[in-house]
Order: sequence, then C-alpha cells, then structure tokens
Amino acid sequence: MRRWGYGCAYCPERATHLDHVIPLSKGGEDVESNMVPACQRCNLSKGAKTLAEWALSR
Ligand SMILES: [Zn+2]
Repeated sequence: MRRWGYGCAYCPERATHLDHVIPLSKGGEDVESNMVPACQRCNLSKGAKTLAEWALSR
C-alpha cells in the first residue's frame, strides 16, 4: 500500500478502502497483488466490475 502513498488508485482522494483489481466474483484472488487502495466513492462505484467494465460504465 505504501507505493500509492495511501491515496486512492483511481482519483486524488485519500484511500479508505481496499479494492480488488479483479473482483473475487470474477475469479480474482484475495492477495495483495490483486488489491489497490481506493476511496469509498471509487470502491463502491466500481463494485464487482473489472477495471475495463468500470471504465466503460463511467
Ligand atoms: Zn477514488
């Protein structure tokens, strides 16, 4: 988490959540390499989407 400076990986907000880059429901693993810090807004917005799906829905 240190490499992100505790900021959200998707916007300039401060991260308060950990987001799964590949959602567990899409076969993602519950490991550090699949997690990035995210603020509440981004994490709730992204939900169980993959990054590609989320980018299309924004
Ligand atoms: Zn954010």
